[in-house]
Amino acid sequence: MPTVVHHASEIDFESPGKRHYQVAFHQDGTWGYSLVPLTVVAGTRGPNPNGVLCFGGTHGNEYEGQIAVKRLARDLDPEQICGRVVLMPQLSESACVANLRTSPLDGVNMNRAFPGNPRGAISYRIAHFVKQHVFPLGRIVVDIHSGGNEGAFPICTSFHPIPDLAQRKEIATVSRLFDPPFVLIYASTMASGLLTDEAEAEGKVTIGGEFGGGESTSRHGVRHAYVGLMNVLRHYGLVEGSVEPIRPAGSQEPRLIRADRLDQYFPCPRDGVWEPVVDPGAAVAGGELIGRLHDFADHSSEPLDIIAPRAGFLAMMHLSARPRKGQTLFVIADELDWNEALQ
Ligand SMILES: [Zn+2]
Repeated sequence: MPTVVHHASEIDFESPGKRHYQVAFHQDGTWGYSLVPLTVVAGTRGPNPNGVLCFGGTHGNEYEGQIAVKRLARDLDPEQICGRVVLMPQLSESACVANLRTSPLDGVNMNRAFPGNPRGAISYRIAHFVKQHVFPLGRIVVDIHSGGNEGAFPICTSFHPIPDLAQRKEIATVSRLFDPPFVLIYASTMASGLLTDEAEAEGKVTIGGEFGGGESTSRHGVRHAYVGLMNVLRHYGLVEGSVEPIRPAGSQEPRLIRADRLDQYFPCPRDGVWEPVVDPGAAVAGGELIGRLHDFADHSSEPLDIIAPRAGFLAMMHLSARPRKGQTLFVIADELDWNEALQ
């Protein structure tokens, strides 16, 4: 069983070997804890300047990251590792247990809680722990997400627009190690307080991504997440071996797409029952029908046709059949040339 610890000072991040912990964060309304899993794998093959930090379960109802990071915690052998890996498969443990996006203990979305607050509600305290005690241990940060019950995405890795050229190039290179069909550059202005925001701002090589959705487990998503993380370890020499392709031979190289402006995120014009007619990841033309919103107050009424206002790739579409007015119904991204994007 993992060792229960109450403070970062009780965690041995340094000695060669592998150690499993549950980090106890006290609950606010009762005597009890959220026991957040954390594994340290410190290799016996010497140091490596590129420590790797892997997170899953930042949102509790997204499973590919939880499974891939847990599997790494079991599989990684310190005897075969050069450097250090820190794994947190269920960062918002209380949300994971409850199959919820946000923690039921404080109602907080862990991916809006950064940089955290040592005196805040439990999610803020966990974020603060990560910022203070885990981020200093690695240069490479990977946070595996999926669409939960909100968004349907094609499998993608993602990052924000990064002003620093060297950081941007390295992030772009690492984003391709997951061999996704899409690499998405997404808007920083859509939300703040993300784990990835904080890591990017610290100058780290930071990768996010969407590996499934619908509170299900995508076997393809788990494979992209697990083999992709192994590829990151191979790329930086933490484990031996060369980077493995993940999709079948002959697959097209990952498409780089950009949705970094808010006018690419289309709010639902009214409540309704959503009938999509294209799939996430599809190329759409301007004026093409994307879906229909139905109003069952009058079943004889015409649906409201939802038309693509511009051409591009459908980077995200609302998943549930019941979007509310103002929720993002879809995102249309522009394709970018890899070389152009990296100048
Ligand atoms: Zn998420």
